Amino acid sequence: MSNKISGSCLCGKVSSIIKGQFKKFYQCYCDRCQKKSGSAFASLIFTTPDKIEWLSGEGLIKRFDLPEAQRFSNCFCTDCGSQVPYISRDGAFLVVPAGYISGDPQIRPSANIFWEERPCWFDDGKSAANFATYPE
Ligand SMILES: [Zn+2]
Ligand SMILES: [Zn+2]
Repeated sequence: MSNKISGSCLCGKVSSIIKGQFKKFYQCYCDRCQKKSGSAFASLIFTTPDKIEWLSGEGLIKRFDLPEAQRFSNCFCTDCGSQVPYISRDGAFLVVPAGYISGDPQIRPSANIFWEERPCWFDDGKSAANFATYPE
């Protein structure tokens, strides 16, 4: 496959192209991902480290490696705070936050991991009312 998928942070200063097919797409409900995302789970897409081509803003990226964690890292744009792609600490994967990608990532989630750590309000949220914009 030679498809190229583009992505950027919220302010647009960090941007890149990611080449080829993604390998895995997991939604992680661990308490660490809740902290870093500010939400119920992190949507993480995996590929190999050689697949990323940075277009801009690499120098704006701050990396936080949680000392006691084996894999967990939080990498974000220092201007807008959005999570951006990073290479896992063991060098095995490029981890791409799904929301960083512009458009369809051409892969769908295959697993909800650390499911037992999901927040107590998550199941209720799935049955809450839906609105196209803000409720009246
Ligand atoms: Zn930014
Ligand atoms: Zn997690």
